[in-house]
Amino acid sequence: MGKVYLTGAGPGDIELMTVKALRVVKEADVIIYDRLANPEILEEAKNGCEFVYVGKEDGRHIMPQDEINEVIYQNAIKYENVVRLKGGDPFVFGRGGEEALYLQERDVKFDIIPGITSAISAPAYAGIPVTHRGVAVSFRVVTGHESPNKKVSQIPWDNFKTDDTIVFLMGLHNLPKISAKLMEIGKDADYPVAVISKGTTKEQSVVVGTLENIVEKAKNVPTPALIVVGKVVLLRNQLKWFEGNA
Ligand code: SAH
Repeated sequence: MGKVYLTGAGPGDIELMTVKALRVVKEADVIIYDRLANPEILEEAKNGCEFVYVGKEDGRHIMPQDEINEVIYQNAIKYENVVRLKGGDPFVFGRGGEEALYLQERDVKFDIIPGITSAISAPAYAGIPVTHRGVAVSFRVVTGHESPNKKVSQIPWDNFKTDDTIVFLMGLHNLPKISAKLMEIGKDADYPVAVISKGTTKEQSVVVGTLENIVEKAKNVPTPALIVVGKVVLLRNQLKWFEGNA
């Protein structure tokens, strides 16, 4: 029985991968990867390494999670070094916890290799600090996948009245509902919002607007994209550094 490395690939820029992730990729006998992991990483693998794509787009699996779990397990039976490569960090909406549990229940050894999550790095590459003295004392990372119109929501919308930064992942398709909901709980129509697409890659694009106009402004933005809500967004005016420099 081999070992599985549940590995964060980082958000896109290949240099944002950890040294540890790079080492296990180089040593891997098989790499099981998602769409969000930068494919250039696979070029680092040794000759003869097998690649298994278990496509995942915007948080929606093309292959059901049960099947992905089983693919990882079957590869652990077959190979010594199994790398499960996931975009960003494996435990930030990456379902890495579920995969680890599946392995743990079957006595398969695993390591977790954290990765730089898009939730902080895409804002950083957009010149948006997720916390900033005097502006935001905390930030939350929230799923944007759940419709804000859902009757019984797991998301504590009423806690979002403060100026703390909110980063929504997997939320682009729900942007109209999310912005409407935030105005409904009392945020101003001109409250700052940014949508960051393909963050940290050469194709990064950033749209800045307000709760009232962001839907219109961001309507043609390609995925993957995340939404940053908060006054920290305004710091981009001074801190923008990446686009055009990549
Ligand atoms: N584990 C990943 C997140 C998986 S959920 C991480 O830690 O980054 C997938 C969502 O992440 C996408 O729908 C999008 O909202 C966000 N995302 C991932 N990579 C991104 C990128 N390079 N730029 C912007 N958003 C990204």
